[in-house]
Amino acid sequence: MPVIHATHMLRSSAIPTMHYLSRVVPSSTAQNGLSTFDKRVLDTARRKLNLPAPLDASHSRMLQLPVRSGGVGLTSRAEIGNIAFYSCAAASMPFIKRTLQPFEAPDTDDVIQQRFEHGQHFREIESAHKHMIDNNNSSSAVSFPPSLRGIAGFWGAFNTNTKEKLQHGLTQHHYSSVIRTLCDRDKLLQARVVSCTSRGASSWLTTNLNKCGQHLSNDHCIMAIRQRIGAPLFQDLPHTCSCGANLDQPNQQDHVHWCPKVKAPAVTLRHNHVAATLNSIAKLAGLTTRIEFTQPTFSAVLNRMRKLRPDILMIGGSATNFVDVAVCHPTTPSRVRLGILPRDHNDKTLHAINRLEQLKTTKYSTLATQYNANFIPFACDVFGAMGPQAHVLIQWISKEASSAGLLSDSADFRRFRSTTYARLSVAIQRATAIGAVDAARRIRDSATAVSIIRDGIAAAAAATAAAATAAAR
Ligand SMILES: [Zn+2]
Repeated sequence: MPVIHATHMLRSSAIPTMHYLSRVVPSSTAQNGLSTFDKRVLDTARRKLNLPAPLDASHSRMLQLPVRSGGVGLTSRAEIGNIAFYSCAAASMPFIKRTLQPFEAPDTDDVIQQRFEHGQHFREIESAHKHMIDNNNSSSAVSFPPSLRGIAGFWGAFNTNTKEKLQHGLTQHHYSSVIRTLCDRDKLLQARVVSCTSRGASSWLTTNLNKCGQHLSNDHCIMAIRQRIGAPLFQDLPHTCSCGANLDQPNQQDHVHWCPKVKAPAVTLRHNHVAATLNSIAKLAGLTTRIEFTQPTFSAVLNRMRKLRPDILMIGGSATNFVDVAVCHPTTPSRVRLGILPRDHNDKTLHAINRLEQLKTTKYSTLATQYNANFIPFACDVFGAMGPQAHVLIQWISKEASSAGLLSDSADFRRFRSTTYARLSVAIQRATAIGAVDAARRIRDSATAVSIIRDGIAAAAAATAAAATAAAR
């Protein structure tokens, strides 16, 4: 089964079934079974992603985090089993009270509360409450009672009204705490999470699989998920690149994206794929377009001699726009050295993309003015994040489609826009994979060539030494 289908099935079918059990079965009974289930889910994901066993703890963590937190959404049921049970118990409180009242009449609410709190069911709630404070950081969550008993306790908080989305709020609070702790320790991870959680970045992971052009091939999907969870993109690269980088170091596992020796054609391939998809979407919206592809080359001279031309000219009813596409990696060593990273845990800015937008705008604005046109950069990164101007462009294209009579109502407009996001998100991941595969092949080829030359030199040296020895005799 393709990886993207397996991921969807795990996330949307298998795991939600266990969710129901974790809500209705006390954690003391369910915990071992839920842990075993979680291990099997992770093992399935590991085998689908062709990763070696045992799975690295940081990769497991990212697989289990929700998509909205930058993970893959293979939720650990054991991790939030107590939240599920506690929330279900809270939701059932008004019904429990109504059931107990006829048996206890004419007793007051206080007596019913005391009898409820002496029961076995309350022991289980008590245990879940303690676990949530110790492990899920729930004590600082909104709508979590500050104490278990008393007027502000569980009975007082939940016996009259059902709290809407209690489990959702507590779970979200738990994951926010988890991701904040992880990001406080690792700025590169935070930059990745900021990218993965930005608008439209995860569409490739959640989009409808039936639609044409909206899902990745198996190999590309494996690479996209590996990249998202921080796993190495390839297992078979040489230990050292021809540029001298040690590819065994964790900070070089995305080296294929920034290697100075091989990146030039790979980056162009990546760029062209995104530009082609953007152009075809613009055509679907009824725009007149002209695209100019850059040919992949290692030659800096040829690159310098390129005329100053943005990638796409889009002519619509309301405006003429020059569009230039740029794809970057937000945590390349050069950006890390310059400190282009999130400043603190509240910083959700796409720093690398914003800089790229500024550079492109400075480069092309005058040209666009000469042609009586606007300039809109389409800057994105390898994790799927798109810059503020890219969102402006997508909105304009959607409005043009609407003005051209291609969309009948607002629902149609929203559908067109979300399809556009999905297609672009898939295209960015596919383009990133295409570029990475090309760069990896060149790294392997050059390592093989170096090894052949080294063997040749060694053989020649040995022959010379043997000849010298023979002559000396
Ligand atoms: Zn290299």
